[in-house]
Amino acid sequence: MNSIPNDVTVQIFSGGFLREITTFEEVKKKLSSILPRLPISKVIMGWSPDKALYEKTASLLAKHNIGFYLWFPVFSETGVCAELSALADYQGRQTGSRDEQSDEDFTFCCPNNKHNIEKILAIFDQQFASIPFTGVFLDKIRYPSSANTGVLGNGFRSTCSCFCPECLAFYEKENIDVDRLKTALARPAALPFGISAYQGNGIYIFDDPVIYDFFKIKARILYKSLEYICTYFRGKGLAIGFDVFAPFLSAFVGQDLPVLSRLCDFIKPMMYRATNAPAGIPFEAEALLQEAGTPDRAGFFKALGINSERKPFDKDFAATDLQNFCSASACPVYAGIEINRKKDIAEIYPDYIEESIKAYSNTGIQGYALSWNLLDAPEENIAKAAGIM
Ligand SMILES: [Zn+2]
Repeated sequence: MNSIPNDVTVQIFSGGFLREITTFEEVKKKLSSILPRLPISKVIMGWSPDKALYEKTASLLAKHNIGFYLWFPVFSETGVCAELSALADYQGRQTGSRDEQSDEDFTFCCPNNKHNIEKILAIFDQQFASIPFTGVFLDKIRYPSSANTGVLGNGFRSTCSCFCPECLAFYEKENIDVDRLKTALARPAALPFGISAYQGNGIYIFDDPVIYDFFKIKARILYKSLEYICTYFRGKGLAIGFDVFAPFLSAFVGQDLPVLSRLCDFIKPMMYRATNAPAGIPFEAEALLQEAGTPDRAGFFKALGINSERKPFDKDFAATDLQNFCSASACPVYAGIEINRKKDIAEIYPDYIEESIKAYSNTGIQGYALSWNLLDAPEENIAKAAGIM
């Protein structure tokens, strides 16, 4: 039982909505070098504005019978193209942006707002609808995480959103006691939000059940909005992939992974154990502790069963967390692992790649998503992955 799943998806970051950072020649060179060496079934690329880049790449991939997905951010990044309504936290503070080193903007809009969704879909319609993609790969399908909180400095607590007028109306309709919820969110606790146990698949036991109801309702809002968004893309004949947080972090951003897996054709939890940036597991775990002002750091890791001494992040916990999700997922799961190298952000070397591929091999995954930018992947990292698969 030590076979390695041989189905690979690769991700290419071509630049943000306003700026192209690559050329077709560069993309072609990289793909030509890896296509003969890795069992690639899908290529994900986005989300720069140059249509010609996608058209040429689409025709190259069609010759190899490889799926081509647009990497499309939904509730973040899109704010540079359209005026979107902001999130509010439990104290009425508004979300701000995170000035990120990775060329990405981490401002989030409220996912519970119909106008936001229509404007986001209009961006796809204007910029990408004419390109022959096989599908769309939806990223930033979540609320902001604790990682957004740290640098804002205005006291906004990302994980304690959203309390905008639309969300408040929805909570009322669903009989959530908002005053009680606000009090519970403000209450200091030994572990973040008063967690007492973790049951897998993002399900936590909290000391105060109103906190459980809060994360549950956020997940329902997200599901409802994504169901609408997916219906739009299905109507265009597009397949759908989802980019999501690691299962144990997913609850805090409103993602119920087993439920979301019913909406898409494949799902990619970002099992990034060595990324020191948003979505990176160690980065997000520390940010959660910091945002909650948790005094009992060791108690948090102990409650989850994480060995926090291990660097990179505990692979056995990550593999178990992924395995539990694979048993509950309605669609194929790809383990997102880093292949690019970026100083101080993602110090990725061949030994880490081998360790990750092997750690996730028996979890029930369909394959691997080599993330998040093939163009920044050193040859030795690619060679290592190719040597194993
Ligand atoms: Zn809202």
